[in-house]
Amino acid sequence: MSDDVAAQSDERYHRQQLIPWIGADGQRSISRAHAVVVGCGALGCAVADILARAGVGRLTLIDRDVVEPSNLQRQTLFTERDARERRPKAESARARVNEINSRIECRAWVDHLCAENALDYLGDATVLIDGLDNIRTRFLLNDVAVQRGTPYIYGGAVGTEGCVMPVLPNEACLRCIFPEPFAGPPQPTCDTAGVLMSTVLAVAARQAMLALQWMSGNAAQISRTLWSFDAVSGRVTMASIAAARDPQCVCCGQRNFEFLRASCEEQATVLCGRNAVQIVPAKSVAATIRCDPQLLRTALAPHGNFEVHGSRLVGTMREVTAVGGEAIELTVFSDGRAIVGGTTDPIFARTLYDRFIGGS
Ligand SMILES: [Zn+2]
Repeated sequence: MSDDVAAQSDERYHRQQLIPWIGADGQRSISRAHAVVVGCGALGCAVADILARAGVGRLTLIDRDVVEPSNLQRQTLFTERDARERRPKAESARARVNEINSRIECRAWVDHLCAENALDYLGDATVLIDGLDNIRTRFLLNDVAVQRGTPYIYGGAVGTEGCVMPVLPNEACLRCIFPEPFAGPPQPTCDTAGVLMSTVLAVAARQAMLALQWMSGNAAQISRTLWSFDAVSGRVTMASIAAARDPQCVCCGQRNFEFLRASCEEQATVLCGRNAVQIVPAKSVAATIRCDPQLLRTALAPHGNFEVHGSRLVGTMREVTAVGGEAIELTVFSDGRAIVGGTTDPIFARTLYDRFIGGS
């Protein structure tokens, strides 16, 4: 580093370096780190913004989706132009990050993260950060984190509530705490239950804090807790996970990385001869999924016209159409399987499923 660049760098990060546990050494450590943000929705945007400004050396952004007008209420890296042009979120976010901090290396991947590409994208990360909208990909991240010994910062925000938890090497993992969260009724998603930006920013700030503690070499001070936040009351609860590691845990105990073994094709298949894609929940959890069609009908009512036929929910989405404006017809079975009609794009169908049916 030339003297000139070093001086500019010192000035840029001066206020951050004044924090005693960061200092010049911590800043140097942050500048050598590689943070991977998976999902560039509300959480991903906010975390990427914080880490870019904090001077993380390499920042990788992964997202499969495009910007829509309804994202602008809370996804801070996007503009009306991004939504009008339906630009890929990862690329729009990278462009904005480059404007925020041109000195860091930012890469964008417009892709659906799955078992077949996860290690390529995540293998050399210093820290993995969760900006996801579905539990399946969170479990995949958890598998990668445990297998590689990479820290993973879990985070979620729906409605006015959010939570954050660090998964650190050789400590409790996400599945020690949530062994089979697919059981029970469909979980609310931001698309069905809404979300407020205040909730998102509180959660993202907490995630970024844990990532900076790790990247600056201060792992010991990281609070080993499941942190939960309610934006309405302002109440924070912290449940210790320090002794929560489960020796029987499928992932970190048995080292059975189910989600790293699952095939992408197995989960989203274009139906032969039909303008439709079938979504099948991951095998390991299909047995525990029970989609109550009546509950799902209530959740989806604001978004389309749906009816229950036997154990199936059938209907047409009102606010989402396929490329070209074709109507999306949805059939959801009680085992969680779904057929998304009106498209042959597996990534689009998978995204729709996660947003409206299988999220959390
Ligand atoms: Zn575990």
